[in-house]
Amino acid sequence: MIVVMQQNATGEQIEAVVGRLEKSGFQVHLSRGVERTIIGIIGDRTRLGDMALEAMPGVEKVMPVLQPYKLASRAFHPEDSVVMVGDLAIGGEEIHVMAGPCAVESREQLLEAARQVKAAGATILRGGAFKPRTSPYSFQGLEEEGLKLLAEARELTGLKVVTEVMDVRTLPLVAEYADILQIGARNMQNFFLLREVARVDKPVLLKRGLSCTIEEWLMAAEYIMSGGNHKVILCERGIRTFENYTRNTLDLTAVPVVKYLSHLPVVVDPSHGIGKWRFVPTMARAAVAAGADGLLVEVHPNPAEALCDGPQSLTPENFAHMMKELRGVARAVNRQLAGGVADV
Ligand code: PEP
Ligand code: MN
Repeated sequence: MIVVMQQNATGEQIEAVVGRLEKSGFQVHLSRGVERTIIGIIGDRTRLGDMALEAMPGVEKVMPVLQPYKLASRAFHPEDSVVMVGDLAIGGEEIHVMAGPCAVESREQLLEAARQVKAAGATILRGGAFKPRTSPYSFQGLEEEGLKLLAEARELTGLKVVTEVMDVRTLPLVAEYADILQIGARNMQNFFLLREVARVDKPVLLKRGLSCTIEEWLMAAEYIMSGGNHKVILCERGIRTFENYTRNTLDLTAVPVVKYLSHLPVVVDPSHGIGKWRFVPTMARAAVAAGADGLLVEVHPNPAEALCDGPQSLTPENFAHMMKELRGVARAVNRQLAGGVADV
């Protein structure tokens, strides 16, 4: 259930409602919008009936949230949520591009990628130090050494860092280095991991599972939010379908649908979404046109030699070209690309 407060409700009136609910054993989440405050109530709904909350001063109405996800729903937070990553606002007017290699492979590779994506206008550096690979014989990532290289790249370029956390055991280590914790597609329903990242004060990039519905995805976000971390950024990265020419089917329908159902920012990963570098820029443009708040794009200084996901990685030149084209698309939908462009 949610309590919608009147537009002119005072702080004391809000506190009185919250206090009464907490005293009765309900868990309460506040959403302070520009227009009004909404109080989300988690607990046994049948016990609310006797409380006559609607009679309390400042209360406009008490209504149920019909979706199974509550805190992630638009009803709880009618305005778009903006997730701050340091001084970067994800979900605002500016579109942020997170770019870099699939995996951190070496100091030289990462620093070169970081320098190039920064020059083209990316604001966040991606790179996996722990890699979820289908084969145990594939490169598994540099682990802590990779995290240290990401920190060095951040130091040198000023880019923020997004990197994947694969399990609860390594979460404290990854959280030490990352500005955004990425939960990969294969872990989207690892509920123990979701509960643990909920306890960390860091934004979470929650990728959509390979065969998960939008509702399951939003329920995964709900795990993180109900555990206390509201800084969730959703990432559409393609789903499994019968089509096998492309690696996945990039479900761009999810962008407007999720933005309708939820207030959380949505970014799109066209690299995993389609799996072939040639089509990545087109899908990136389509994602921005569809309303994405950001992009996650794989860029490698030398894709042919990449230890992971070379076929879908852009060269720095192709990336710079894509960024140029994206600026026009962003303007056409009344947004703008964050990040300046330097002469390379
Ligand atoms: C990645 O971003 O490199 C990755 C492993 O993505 P996903 O979890 O979407 O497959
Ligand atoms: Mn990858």
